[in-house]
Amino acid sequence: MPKAQITIPLDIPDVRVLQTAVNERGEIIITIESTKAGTQCRKCGRWITKLHGRDEWVTIRHSPAFGRPTYLRYRPNRYQCQDCEGHPTTTQVLEWSDGNSPHSFAYDNHILLQLVNSTVEDVSVKEGLSYDSVAGALERRIETSVDWTTITEMEVLGLDEIALRKGQGNYVTLVTGRFRDGEIAILGVLPGHEKAVVVEYLRLIPQRILQGLQAVCCDLWEAYMEAVREEIPTARIVADRFHVARHYRDAADQSRKTELQRLKKELPKEEYQKLNGSFRVFRKHAKDLNKEERKTLRGFFAYSPCAKQAYDFREAFTALYDMNLSKKQAQSKFLRWIWQVEKSGLLCFDTFIRLLRHWWEEITNFFVHRENSGFVEGFNNKVKVLKRRCYGIFNLTHLFQRIYLDLSGYRLFAATTIYA
Ligand SMILES: [Zn+2]
Repeated sequence: MPKAQITIPLDIPDVRVLQTAVNERGEIIITIESTKAGTQCRKCGRWITKLHGRDEWVTIRHSPAFGRPTYLRYRPNRYQCQDCEGHPTTTQVLEWSDGNSPHSFAYDNHILLQLVNSTVEDVSVKEGLSYDSVAGALERRIETSVDWTTITEMEVLGLDEIALRKGQGNYVTLVTGRFRDGEIAILGVLPGHEKAVVVEYLRLIPQRILQGLQAVCCDLWEAYMEAVREEIPTARIVADRFHVARHYRDAADQSRKTELQRLKKELPKEEYQKLNGSFRVFRKHAKDLNKEERKTLRGFFAYSPCAKQAYDFREAFTALYDMNLSKKQAQSKFLRWIWQVEKSGLLCFDTFIRLLRHWWEEITNFFVHRENSGFVEGFNNKVKVLKRRCYGIFNLTHLFQRIYLDLSGYRLFAATTIYA
């Protein structure tokens, strides 16, 4: 029985469909010609309409119809200028393709939407494209730097250090901005995390933007702090809770590691095996533990009172962050926490306490900021996700484009214009 047929409008303007065919691979080939008359002379810029002929056939990939790979096939029109010397010819500029790309704009949009929060590898498999074809859409269509003239109402500037791979010397700095409406934008990816690199970048930011900042959110890293203090003396520097959490959570983890190593030596093998899984469970928040996990943790803590102490102190510190404290209240609670840790004789938090004292203002500024502007941790949670996604992307321009796409891709490419 013949399949039912439908007619749908092609989603590109100013063309006539000459033929629609399905090839042996089931791909749809749409042969079209432009109905637009004329183009701009590439030399003088005048509108020229004298048709000089047609170029060779071009086939470009277009948005899939019914999930099938779809191609547009056409011969570009070429026009001749009557005014310029030598009567040069110009290929017609089209609204739906840029002439040098193997994809229509609509197909690039389709790819870029797939690429949001995904990977080039993944999208190339799903679309049956080469890695370079997917990366090409990114290179052609996504900004490679920020246009400062378009930026207004930026409230928070973020400086975050990212390791592009394990080991020394692979750090870059992620510069992000948070706007009054809560939007987050990538502003730059800097080649390194040294003070000079950051200073050089901050000097590119217009003064009107720097003056309007409520806060600069930084990793606990001396070079960033110094650069910001010198270049934006009016800004309040804030160490976000997630920057701090990494340090006190690692400290507690250290105690867990040492204790498990000790127990491995001291306990009979059978007993030690019962502690299996405490490694993972220890990292969880107390409120997120299920019955089984609480049991595992109790088993571990029965052998190791000091691991329990470390766990409880860690959870207590997190709880302080969850409370709606003023900066002053937070400082007094932090001091009390330090006093209790020191009194307990537990040593694993020593380094963290030194860090807390060193960055006392910056760390407790978090509470001012949350109090004054309803600042939520959404900002840094987003950055945290981005940091994980950056791993292994060494081309900084690509990295910028990937983050730009992750942050703005849905807004830019989810709504496609349909030409009916
Ligand atoms: Zn001309």
